[in-house]
Amino acid sequence: MALMDILFWALIIWALYHLIKWLRTRQKRYIPREVKNAVLKRYFNMCAVCMENTFLEFHHRKPYSDNGDNSEQNIVPLCPKHHAMVTRYTGDKFE
Ligand SMILES: [Zn+2]
Repeated sequence: MALMDILFWALIIWALYHLIKWLRTRQKRYIPREVKNAVLKRYFNMCAVCMENTFLEFHHRKPYSDNGDNSEQNIVPLCPKHHAMVTRYTGDKFE
């Protein structure tokens, strides 16, 4: 019975730890609305490669994993196709 209690609390603590970790990274990767608007304006609401203007995603030129930030200079709008292409080519994680 006591062993089950310990396992139960270990599971709760493990889940909380990962939940907090996930929430923190999610917050860090969040690009502010003003930055998104400024970037879109700079690229005329188009993919920086092919001028596609629907389903745009925001690519970090310097990835988070390499201390890239959410500044306007570090973000480029890309369509899903070119976003996938760039991230595959550079070996970055999709972000
Ligand atoms: Zn494109």
